[in-house]
Amino acid sequence: MEEIYNELRWNPLLGSWIIVSSGRKRRPWRRGECPFCPGSPETGYGWEVLTLDNRYPALRPDAKISRESNDVYKVEPGYGYCKVVVETPMHEGDLCDIPLETLVKYLRELARVTEELCKDASIQYVIPFRNKGEEIGVSLTHPHSQVYALPFIPPRVAVEMRNMEKYWRDKGECLLCHILRLEREEGSRLLYVNKGFTAFLPFFAMWPYEVHIYANRHVGKLAELSSEELLDLADSLKVVTAMYNNLFGFSLPYMLIFHQRPCKVEAEYFHLHLEFYPVHREKDKLKYAAGIEWGAWTFTYDALPEEKACELRAALKRAINALKNGGYDPRGKPIS
Ligand SMILES: [Zn+2]
Ligand SMILES: [Zn+2]
Ligand SMILES: [Zn+2]
Repeated sequence: MEEIYNELRWNPLLGSWIIVSSGRKRRPWRRGECPFCPGSPETGYGWEVLTLDNRYPALRPDAKISRESNDVYKVEPGYGYCKVVVETPMHEGDLCDIPLETLVKYLRELARVTEELCKDASIQYVIPFRNKGEEIGVSLTHPHSQVYALPFIPPRVAVEMRNMEKYWRDKGECLLCHILRLEREEGSRLLYVNKGFTAFLPFFAMWPYEVHIYANRHVGKLAELSSEELLDLADSLKVVTAMYNNLFGFSLPYMLIFHQRPCKVEAEYFHLHLEFYPVHREKDKLKYAAGIEWGAWTFTYDALPEEKACELRAALKRAINALKNGGYDPRGKPIS
């Protein structure tokens, strides 16, 4: 049998880890046979939201390394966990198609899984994310998210933490609470606001239709949200994804990432937020992270964010009408 290796290799130039795994074979299931539908060998029956182990995880608690470190070529076991959270028994659709109560269960499950994995002494960071659409390499249409539990704090989060901490220390306030206030003052990029959460296209967006959702209250992680706030976050997810799917008249591919406080650092300055990165820049054109983005880590934005926010507002109006026609009563207000 082919040996399976899961290891971290250190990039000494960038000072960051690469997760390396071998033997992650192609998905074995046949076409037309969904591994996430109720009644499959792994799922069984009688659930609304279900967490499964990723069958071919990039990280695993019994990780084996293929070689030893040599000088600045550091190698460590790819210790960690990769979970799949099936969001609904329904085979098709997006978050906007899932009933609000099921979405709340989904969020509670993400909170529970985060807390549970954070308890592991070697886990530093737990990151739930959702990839949607073939453009992002997702072949399974059954609505699902993933959760990675990492033995290190990933670079993007580490950078955010550094800047949040600096702002907290220098100004005595939270950077994201401050950004929320700026977005409200300027108003031109705000999209949707309910009691618990605010959705907007950030001043500093990197993707054309990037949207962030910030908790209105200064909380660090999903587990700290009240029942009302969970309903408000579920509502924001429903409305924002409905907005995306009304933008061009087709189901819009995106990445969705949950940024929460790390497991072991007492980061009081950290403010829970979600980030959506859709990959389209026009109806029939994708925005590629290409030479300048990858080679320089510098993003170019080919419009004014305020213009893109206007387009999203028009889509939001259509989405709210469609949701209302479908019998859903949004908990917040679109900004126009
Ligand atoms: Zn299915
Ligand atoms: Zn805050
Ligand atoms: Zn973030």
